[in-house]
Amino acid sequence: PYTGPSSEQILAKRKQYLSPSLFHFYSKPLNVVDGKMQYLFDENGRRYLDGFGGIATVCCGHSHPDVVDAVVKQLNRIQHSTVLYLNHVIADFAEALASKMPGNLKVVFFTNSGTEANELALMIARLYTGCQDIISLRNAYHGNAAGTMGATAQSIWKFNVIQSGVHHALNPDPYRGVFGSDGEMYAKDVQDIIDYGTSGHVAGFISEAIQGVGGIVEMAPDYLPAAYKSVKKVGGLCIADEVQVGFGRTGSHFWGFEAQGVVPDIVTMAKGIGNGIPLVLKVIEKENLQENALVVGSHLKKRLTELKDKYEIIGDVRGRGLMLGVELVTDRQRKTPAKAETLHIMDQMKDLGVLVGKGGFYGNVFRITPPLCFTKEDADFLVDAMDYSMSKM
Ligand code: PMP
Repeated sequence: PYTGPSSEQILAKRKQYLSPSLFHFYSKPLNVVDGKMQYLFDENGRRYLDGFGGIATVCCGHSHPDVVDAVVKQLNRIQHSTVLYLNHVIADFAEALASKMPGNLKVVFFTNSGTEANELALMIARLYTGCQDIISLRNAYHGNAAGTMGATAQSIWKFNVIQSGVHHALNPDPYRGVFGSDGEMYAKDVQDIIDYGTSGHVAGFISEAIQGVGGIVEMAPDYLPAAYKSVKKVGGLCIADEVQVGFGRTGSHFWGFEAQGVVPDIVTMAKGIGNGIPLVLKVIEKENLQENALVVGSHLKKRLTELKDKYEIIGDVRGRGLMLGVELVTDRQRKTPAKAETLHIMDQMKDLGVLVGKGGFYGNVFRITPPLCFTKEDADFLVDAMDYSMSKM
């Protein structure tokens, strides 16, 4: 049994010793004590179905034994600079990662986080082209250091950043965007930025294939090929941010960009590789997690779409595989964000033992990005809990 401090004590200590900028989910925040595959446990041993482990970014499942074993074995052996001294592990892992990549994406550079990977990618693009201008998308999230905050396009993540040389293009958002699902029309904005907002040359273009923090916004079809074409034509590099969408989560493909049929110049990734730790690819393959994401994700999306027929408040159900979004609106015509209702339902679902995330510009989108070991039964339980919570509104 749990003998640690209570939620109130933890909250008090957080308040005293941690930055006041930290926020937490739920009106009564959850004290997570243990995790096992797709489940989390609170201090009373109560089990919750984790529909949001992808944020951490848990692919294989919490405390997966193979991952724990690999980490413990390595820590017991040696943990030191892999640059100054030789060790086969880093070279083997680079080879394994390169084997998952299309085209001539065959060289790996390891960093500590997604933010650093994106900072490096932006710097490489700038050094390679000799240009400063970067094009990124509205509603994007790319990290929280100076450069990546500039590329991020959400006010709450911009703080006091000097946004030098970043242009935010129209977001190819099929639900809220002005051109609906016409990806090529949105891509014209990238061309316009190059033509009218720069010297005619850009360092690069960076985007997620499905925006995560932005509220599971899947790109309009045909967007990336057209946008990449405009950028490549003037010598810019195309960067795919796969931090949330990669590693088989979309089910149909291993990488998110593959669904749009493009090959980027640089691909960035982070915690998804190894359950929150940058290693361990084998489990994803051994346990067919990509296929599971496809099968369970399709089932989950079908059931969520059925829920949309039942409740007016659901404006949109979207995403691929196990990266799904449910956007709540109080008026389907005007798409008025149902922010308070989103929070309320999220709380109710927690009381029923199901955790989902939220996001989107208006905070009115449920983000469903569970560990990839999620089962069909888990998916049904999640939808049933959402159904019940909505029926009680
Ligand atoms: N890019 C995307 C798309 C992300 O969602 C995140 C954070 N989850 C990052 C970059 C930054 O990664 P990190 O938190 O590892 O710095």
